[in-house]
Amino acid sequence: MGMLFRFLLIFLAVLIVYRAVKRLFLPAAKRGEVREGDREVVHRGEMVKDPVCGTFVPRDDSIGLQQDGEQHFFCSPACRDEYRRRGKGAS
Ligand SMILES: [Zn+2]
Repeated sequence: MGMLFRFLLIFLAVLIVYRAVKRLFLPAAKRGEVREGDREVVHRGEMVKDPVCGTFVPRDDSIGLQQDGEQHFFCSPACRDEYRRRGKGAS
């Protein structure tokens, strides 16, 4: 009985220390990352859809193309070129 109680105490102590250490290191970094990420998304604004492959990309990370008085956004230069080629062929 005494042994079990001692074991429990040690286990609890280890758990408390482990939690304290974890709280010190892990969540601080995690929270900072998440907060920064959220802020970044808000600052960066909307997601735009690539009309060629249908992928959504952050507007600031997209490749822009001004065509027929309209601004189009693409995930990559390849998609932009593809769109340009298609547009010329269609019209
Ligand atoms: Zn694309």
